[in-house]
Amino acid sequence: MTRMTRELVVLGTASAVPTRHRNHNGYLLLWDGQGFLFDPGEGTQRQMTMAGVSAHDVTWICVTHFHGDHCLGVPGVVQRIARDKVSHAVQAAYPASGETYWRRLRHAAAFADTSAITPRPVSGDVVRWPAGPVTLTARPLSHPVESYGYRVDEPDGRRMLPEELTARGIAGPMIGELQRAGSVTLGDGSVVSLADCSVPRPGQSAAIVMDTRLCDDVYALAGGVDLLVIESTFLSAEEALATEYGHLTAAQAGQVARDCGVRRLVLTHFSERYSFADEPRFVEEAAKSFGGEIVTARDLTRVPVPRRRP
Ligand SMILES: [Zn+2]
Ligand SMILES: [Zn+2]
Repeated sequence: MTRMTRELVVLGTASAVPTRHRNHNGYLLLWDGQGFLFDPGEGTQRQMTMAGVSAHDVTWICVTHFHGDHCLGVPGVVQRIARDKVSHAVQAAYPASGETYWRRLRHAAAFADTSAITPRPVSGDVVRWPAGPVTLTARPLSHPVESYGYRVDEPDGRRMLPEELTARGIAGPMIGELQRAGSVTLGDGSVVSLADCSVPRPGQSAAIVMDTRLCDDVYALAGGVDLLVIESTFLSAEEALATEYGHLTAAQAGQVARDCGVRRLVLTHFSERYSFADEPRFVEEAAKSFGGEIVTARDLTRVPVPRRRP
């Protein structure tokens, strides 16, 4: 049975160097039975155990780029998928230019492999795949090595209006028929259309924007999402460093969230120079632009996708 869960399981939140309190990156987005594992950094397999998720929860592995903090956990995860005999298909998206790295990580040690994982190398300006009930999109970012961000979109639907259904005497299986066929014919011969008994319901969405400078595709990825998970490696005092190394500051993340109409902003990928005590400074800088909810991600926490807009 498909679990109707929409939440981010945070597995790791450190940039290049893991710390006593932060594992390398790792983000499992659970969405109605799909499990998008973004950027399994070193130690992800064990973090999954600590977080109470398993290899069976993973349906996609999405690597943004081949810096170690975003991919050194691939060997452990792919070997665990084989060991646990995951029977469903698992797709693996990663920058095509890093094919050599992917192959090494995919076959890093001896193990009894299975055919569960299908590679989906990404190139070009925009790539979209159907992924269960949603669409997964990849777009290129701006970083010293080729990097792609991802977003997940639920298709727009319609919200049924119970009072309109009742007024027309539509109940039980007729509701399903109305939704499938777009109209139903009543006993007296009159036709009721779906539009009479429902209103448009915009789909929900989430985006993962890892290592990048500000660029147009950051905005394309984050546009209108309910949940934005975005790197904020540095505070503004290090903005020059951030730009040089292809990273964002918390203030820039806040500007993106404001400009894109994001609902819940999750800051992560923190430089090892900062401690938990610095988290309020990240929030403060992002909040200068963004008035919505800001979460500074911590390992082994869960962040729900915000409830659907009424
Ligand atoms: Zn990184
Ligand atoms: Zn990087």
